[in-house]
Amino acid sequence: MTDFAWPLQSNRIRRDMLNHTFGMVRNGGSRPHQGWDLTAAPMTSCYAIADGEIAFTNDQGDYGKVVVLKFDTSRETLWAAYCHLTFWVVKERDRVSRGDLLGYTGNSGNARSMIGEDQHLHFEIRTVDRPGRGLTGRIDPKDLYGHVPIGWAIFEAVGDKTAPRGVGLKVRGVNVRG
Ligand SMILES: [Zn+2]
Repeated sequence: MTDFAWPLQSNRIRRDMLNHTFGMVRNGGSRPHQGWDLTAAPMTSCYAIADGEIAFTNDQGDYGKVVVLKFDTSRETLWAAYCHLTFWVVKERDRVSRGDLLGYTGNSGNARSMIGEDQHLHFEIRTVDRPGRGLTGRIDPKDLYGHVPIGWAIFEAVGDKTAPRGVGLKVRGVNVRG
């Protein structure tokens, strides 16, 4: 497996709840969630998970301010979408390296009423740059990382993001609720 960086320094599913992971996980299995919600106070730094190119930035609809990074795995080209941002620091067609700062999290789009621990980065892995509704054109980020950071956080310091190493230090018991 190619070694991808994580999008944040501390990566943990919002409120440790399955309905903030990927799949038909909402409304009792009747509604999709197209990515992971990772807990993040506004203005948390977002990083490139791989070397690649900025496909586009966008500011409209439910996603709010979005940065989409095009990158390659050993098998295919994928796109990583960072959503509900406050602002981005890159622009279309910029070449970026794994671990580069792309922007800052926020509550734009349909996250505008989020407060406290519900504030998050909505993070998607896409098989096309601009998929439609539903799950079509996305895959589970778990397919890239091998596991879901739920019930515990994956911490990856900024300095680690540019080094070729594993998934970061798993800090079990940190930020676990209840
Ligand atoms: Zn979400």
